[in-house]
Amino acid sequence: MNKEEKRLYDREYAKNNKEKIKIRKDKWYQDNKEEIRLKRHKNYIENKDEITIKHREYRLRIRREVMKHINHDIEPLCVICGEEFFPFLQIDHVNNDGAKWGKIHGVGDSMVSWLRKNKYPEQPELQILCANCNMAKATGALIC
Ligand SMILES: [Zn+2]
Repeated sequence: MNKEEKRLYDREYAKNNKEKIKIRKDKWYQDNKEEIRLKRHKNYIENKDEITIKHREYRLRIRREVMKHINHDIEPLCVICGEEFFPFLQIDHVNNDGAKWGKIHGVGDSMVSWLRKNKYPEQPELQILCANCNMAKATGALIC
């Protein structure tokens, strides 16, 4: 069996033995749980800065992706004033029902994850605002 045939065989085996493989992997994980935990912790300690940066980049990438989706596939910008500077942008509940929805989907990163995981449901109705416009709207200084 050459390398290509072995690859195809492995793929076919994996496809036909999903349950068997899962049971074996779960057993292996349970048998090596403590060792895995220590290895992960050691890796985290050794690469803390790099992991923190990568995690931050991941969070920003997901946030941008979700905001872009909310903005109908246009790069995120404030729908009132047109601000494009990403760190200033926030997700706003159009109907000012964020508190109600917060109990369902969480706030901040939790909401972003929830939206993505639930494939962007129509409700809650959302829009992108910059921090200034969002604050003005929240205080009633701006009606939109
Ligand atoms: Zn704005």
